[in-house]
Amino acid sequence: MHNINDICKDGGSLPLSTKGNLRVVFLGVGSAFTKRNRQSNFLIIQGDYHVLVDCGTLGPLALDDVGLSVSKVQCYLPTHSHADHIGGFEEVALVNRYISSSSKKPKMIVPKEYQDLLWNKSLAGGIEFCETKEGQPLQLKDFFDILCPKKMELLGRQLWSYQYGPMELILMRTLHIPDSAIRMDDAQWCCGILINRKVWISGDTMFDKNYSTQFSQLSEVMFHDCQMFQGGVHASYRELMTLPDKIRSKIYLYHYNDNWDDPKTWIEDSDDFTGDPIKDGFLGWAAQQVAYDFK
Ligand SMILES: [Zn+2]
Repeated sequence: MHNINDICKDGGSLPLSTKGNLRVVFLGVGSAFTKRNRQSNFLIIQGDYHVLVDCGTLGPLALDDVGLSVSKVQCYLPTHSHADHIGGFEEVALVNRYISSSSKKPKMIVPKEYQDLLWNKSLAGGIEFCETKEGQPLQLKDFFDILCPKKMELLGRQLWSYQYGPMELILMRTLHIPDSAIRMDDAQWCCGILINRKVWISGDTMFDKNYSTQFSQLSEVMFHDCQMFQGGVHASYRELMTLPDKIRSKIYLYHYNDNWDDPKTWIEDSDDFTGDPIKDGFLGWAAQQVAYDFK
């Protein structure tokens, strides 16, 4: 059971707490290069706890849209190293270390397996030499309190879990890049997330029928990444239409291209669907800057 509610009524800022229910707010629902939406970064909020999953190049601006900023968010969870997911982390790190009045570092939930890649290949280039600490460049842990998920197994998969206050966050790897990857060992780190064994958000992934089918068993509501064209590194609408009705009926689509609402630009004559996800058996397009509230 879930409801969709307006946020920031009367221009107020989005509260980072709830009365105990689970709330998911997409700051954006667009693709990597979206100009009409914000990028697909989302807040998970429950009780007094919140996590911002990803903060892309437009992430700080998207926080500003809802009356927040990178110094208000206390916990982050990066899914993978594309700039629409981590491009805002330099601002998160610098503002919190050098500008914010808070003496506390923000937290970051990040599996050990991803930490070196995130730091050495992406973030270190911009921020490790802001200062030297005992003659050494800074490290990820100088900017963030690192919270390390534990390995676990579920559905025959290797997963990672972290209990953050009332929220159980389960991370699973996805097949996102390169587009030739057919096994996790061939793919660069990228993860999806299952919240409280109830709400599943695919993360960036190519179409992987087994992946969505498995997690549909545990999910009341699913959010699946979706692109309008075939090929590349995301699941296409056409591919998602091959999922059974029962699974599609739980799915909102997000991470979509800027022509999502003009189906004649992406549907072909041979397609037997309308391009309106509700008519095609999905729950619909996910909307940004509203609250998905779960009982
Ligand atoms: Zn990506």
